[in-house]
Amino acid sequence: MIDRKPAIVARPLGVADVVTCVRWARQHDVRLTIKGGGHNIAGLAVADDALTLDMSAMRGVWVDTDANVAHAQAGCLLGDVDRETQVHGLAAVLGFVSATGIAGLTLGGGFGYMTRKYGWTSDNVLSIQVVTADGRVVRASEKENPDLFWGLRGGGGNFGIATDFEYRLYPVGPEVMAGAIAWRGDDTAQVLELYEKVTANAPSELTCPLVLRNAPPAPWLDRDVHGKPVTVILFAYSGSVEEGAKLAQPLKSFGSPVGDVIQPRPYTTIQSLLDGTQPKGRRYYWKSEYVPGVETELLTKAAEHARKTQSPHSAVIVFPLDGALGRLPEDHSAVGNRATGAVINIAGSWDDAAEDRQHIAWARDTWSDMRRFSTGGTYMNFLTEEEGDARIRDAYGSNYDRLIDVKTTWDPDNFFSVNKNVVPRG
Ligand SMILES: Cc1cc2nc3c(=O)[nH]c(=O)nc-3n(C[C@H](O)[C@H](O)[C@H](O)COP(=O)(O)OP(=O)(O)OC[C@H]3O[C@@H](n4cnc5c(N)ncnc54)[C@H](O)[C@@H]3O)c2cc1C
Repeated sequence: MIDRKPAIVARPLGVADVVTCVRWARQHDVRLTIKGGGHNIAGLAVADDALTLDMSAMRGVWVDTDANVAHAQAGCLLGDVDRETQVHGLAAVLGFVSATGIAGLTLGGGFGYMTRKYGWTSDNVLSIQVVTADGRVVRASEKENPDLFWGLRGGGGNFGIATDFEYRLYPVGPEVMAGAIAWRGDDTAQVLELYEKVTANAPSELTCPLVLRNAPPAPWLDRDVHGKPVTVILFAYSGSVEEGAKLAQPLKSFGSPVGDVIQPRPYTTIQSLLDGTQPKGRRYYWKSEYVPGVETELLTKAAEHARKTQSPHSAVIVFPLDGALGRLPEDHSAVGNRATGAVINIAGSWDDAAEDRQHIAWARDTWSDMRRFSTGGTYMNFLTEEEGDARIRDAYGSNYDRLIDVKTTWDPDNFFSVNKNVVPRG
C-alpha cells in the first residue's frame, strides 16, 4: 500500500557514510528518510523524491557476556539480535515479528513477550549513538546528552539517525515453553473467561496475547476450522520449561482445542512464530488503542467485531502490557503510557486492492467502538499514515511538551520530518 519513489537510495556501510548523507541532503536541500526494517505501517521509511538511507548493510551485533549487554547496529532486524544473543542464552526485550527493524521499534518504545517483566524495549536501552541534524556524531545515555536520550526513548526518528543501540540483556532460553493454542469460535465466551483468569494470575514471566480471527489454513489447526472464527491464545513463558509446562496446563486441558503447539521450543522460534501471518506484499491497515486492562466487556466486544471481518487475514489482537511499565514514572522517558494494561491492535489485512475500502472500514468501525475502553493513549509505532497531530499528542500525553523542547534543541529546522513529527518551536 506504500507506493512512493525516493530520488536516491543510499546504503551506508558505517557511521561516516551516514554523516556524508546528512551533510549532502542539507547542502542540496533534499528530504531525508531512514529505512530500518521498513515495517512501519505508515510507510515512514520512504518518501517521494527523497534521499532514503537504507540501513540494511549495518547489521552487526556484538554481545558482551560479562556485562550482559548487546551492541547492535541500527539496520538490524529483531531476529538478528535474538540470533546472536541466544548463542549465550541471553535476550533483549524485543517484539513479536522477527523481520521488524530494531531502530523503529526501539525509538518508538517497543514491546514484546518480555515487556510485562522488563518494561518497554526503550527502558532497557543503555545508550544510543546518533548522527544529528548538523552532522555531528553523539552518544546519548543517562550521563551523556540526557535530554536527547529522554527523547529518543519513544520519540521516534525525530532527533537524529541512530547508528547503534546498546541493550541490556536477560537470561532466557535457549529453550522455553511457548506457542499457541486455539479453540472454535463457538467456544469463544468460555475461552474469554479462561483468558481473563489466566492473565489475571500470570506471573510477569508469562505473556499471553489473544488473537481473534478466522482460522488461516495453517497445518497446526484442524482442517475443518480453516476459514472459520477461532480464538487463539499465544503463550510465552521466559522462565524454566518445567514451570512453563505447569502454567500451560489449564489452557491445554480446557475444552477441545482445534490446535495446540504450546511446547518446549527454542526461544528464537517463539520470537518468529507470527512471521508467517505478516507476509510482504499484502495490504495492511491498523488501528490501535491502549486500554487499562482486559475485562469481560472489552473482550466480548473485540470478539464480536472480529467476527464481522470479511478477510481471512484480519484479526483483533490484545497484547498484555501490565507489570513493569508501571514501575517507572510517566516522565521517565518520552514513551510514557505507563498505566497501560494492554494494547488492542485492530489489524486489517487482505490481498486485493479492490477490497481496500471494505477492510479499512471494518478496522475503523471496530476502532470507533473499542475506543471507549481506551486509556486515551495510543502506540506511536502503530499509527497509520492519516493519523496526524491529534493522535501524536494522544501517543505522548503529558510528555508531549517536553518532546517539543528536545526537538527544538536538537533539530530546530525540522530536518528529520518524515516520521510521526513533533514540530519544533519558533
Ligand atoms: C508485522 C509487524 C509487527 C510488529 N510488531 C511489533 C511488536 O511486536 N512490538 C512493537 O513494539 N512494535 C511492533 N511493530 C511496530 C514497529 O515497531 C514499527 O512499525 C516500527 O516503526 C518498525 O521499525 P522499522 O525499523 O522496521 O521501521 P521503518 O519503516 O524502517 O522506520 C520507521 C520509522 O523509524 C525511523 N527510523 C528507522 N530507523 C531509524 C534510525 N536508524 N534512526 C532514526 N530513525 C529511524 C524512520 O525514520 C521511520 O520514521 C510491528 C510492525 C509490523 C509491521
